[in-house]
Amino acid sequence: MQTSHSWDLDLVVIGGGSGGVRAARMAAARGARVAVVESKAMGGTCVNVGCIPKKLYSYAAGYAEAFDEARGYGWQMPETIALDWQALKTARAREITRLNGIYEGLMRNAQVERIAGQGRLTDAHTVVVSADGADVRTLRAAHILIATGGTPVRPDLPGSEHVIVSDDMFDLATLPRRLVVVGAGYIGCEMASIFHGLGVQVSLLHRGDQILRGFDDEVRSFVAEEMRKSGVELRMKTEVTSIACDTASGERTLTLADGSTLKADQVLYATGRKANVSGLGLEALGIALDKSGAIVVDAQMATAQPSVHALGDVVGRMELTPVALAEAMAWVDHIWGPEAGKDARAMDYDNIPTAVFTHPQIGTVGLTEAQARERHGAVRIYRSDFKPLRHTLSGRSERCLVKLVVDDASDKVLGLHVVGADAAEITQGFAVALKAGATKALFDQTIGIHPTMAEELVTLR
Ligand code: FAD
Ligand code: NDP
Repeated sequence: MQTSHSWDLDLVVIGGGSGGVRAARMAAARGARVAVVESKAMGGTCVNVGCIPKKLYSYAAGYAEAFDEARGYGWQMPETIALDWQALKTARAREITRLNGIYEGLMRNAQVERIAGQGRLTDAHTVVVSADGADVRTLRAAHILIATGGTPVRPDLPGSEHVIVSDDMFDLATLPRRLVVVGAGYIGCEMASIFHGLGVQVSLLHRGDQILRGFDDEVRSFVAEEMRKSGVELRMKTEVTSIACDTASGERTLTLADGSTLKADQVLYATGRKANVSGLGLEALGIALDKSGAIVVDAQMATAQPSVHALGDVVGRMELTPVALAEAMAWVDHIWGPEAGKDARAMDYDNIPTAVFTHPQIGTVGLTEAQARERHGAVRIYRSDFKPLRHTLSGRSERCLVKLVVDDASDKVLGLHVVGADAAEITQGFAVALKAGATKALFDQTIGIHPTMAEELVTLR
């Protein structure tokens, strides 16, 4: 590491999102002189157009189910209950503005300078900041951290100017009556569930034969079935060839590969995200990108330039907020050393829990059944699908799934999968058990909490 006095700053971070802000604060707490360059509102994707507004809208959607279920519990509900979309948007915007302010405050309190503008590297120690088309600052630092996140991929097909991406979903002028979602990953499935819950007629189109590639196969088909039961139309093996828009009505007509057409008021493309690297000046510095366009880094998040590191979505390992945060903390420990009295954190990508906020939710940690069979050979599967107690009176036919994948030789639980209400909350707790290497025998020795859905995970036989 260069000495603290050779440079104007010890660290310049480009990107004030989850990873950048955490790295800046942690480095400043070790005494480093830090600046964060951010071109938009502080907080990044998660706060502004990701996890937080998404979860708020997911809560909003959940009320539709709750109102419906309440009748079964004796509540007399009015015939029509309507969503005020403008009121929801206003409430969301107010909360996001509050969070932006909290992030600004975190920077101030940590004595990190927050610089508004677009950052680019002109050499391995220099970041030039531009705003409104003019260069406004030149920052020379011992270390540069690229934490610029990602952006939704826009399709390249005739009529692609008529589609929207996830960034646009939160602030739509009006709630569409009919929404077509293309893509069946996290974002496509979550948005389909959420907007269906908000009262929109949703069709989800996917090029593959099942939603949510990468998740446990049984979980994928179970959730697809539950989403269909709830009223979301899922069309597999379906590709869009072109989109036309009637300028007077705004109605979109999608032409599909089989020649059929489909009408919608909005078309959301959720076909993945790409790293924000354009204009950063990486090529001139010999900083390589992988085939998906993400920055190539080593185990310590270093690029080909030893003074330039990158983390979070821009390196595309696991595009999750807690992963960006963990990478940031491990990186700061690596460069400036751990906090007094603590061990240096190292990044460990095993057993990272994750959730998909569909209705019903998915919570998952560890290996899918297929991964476990491939890596461990003999595995035991314990599963149960059942109607949760809540739905005995609610009138809904929604079912839950819990599943454990266990290594036959060691009895270790290799994977845990939950589909149902609160699956994310349940899985977070059990993730500690998997991290600790819990065996199925230990699950069996654990007393359940009755009556809950989670108790099924300790009573599977
Ligand atoms: P970001 O948070 O994207 O921050 C990057 C920042 O860099 C941005 O603010 C950007 O404006 C700025 N920037 C880019 N280029 C420049 C430049 N040249 N100069 C200055 N500033 C620049 N993850 C979860 O864990 N749970 C969820 O429920 C979840 N839901 C999501 C829902 C949606 C719709 C989306 C899109 C994502 C979701 N994610 C979720 C993923 C999560 O948001 C990201 O993994 C996380 O935000 C990545 O953090 P980051 O710091 O790498 O990048
Ligand atoms: P994903 O990679 O998860 O899903 C992309 C989807 O689009 C897949 O179904 C994919 O199909 C399909 N697709 C890709 N390219 C095309 C194409 N050219 N034509 C048609 N379909 C295509 O990306 P998302 O955008 O949904 O999410 C990005 C990341 O953000 C996630 O991976 C996740 O890490 C993070 N995220 C996390 C959330 C959470 O934690 N709850 C919520 C939202 C996002 P195929 O399977 O065939 O490749």
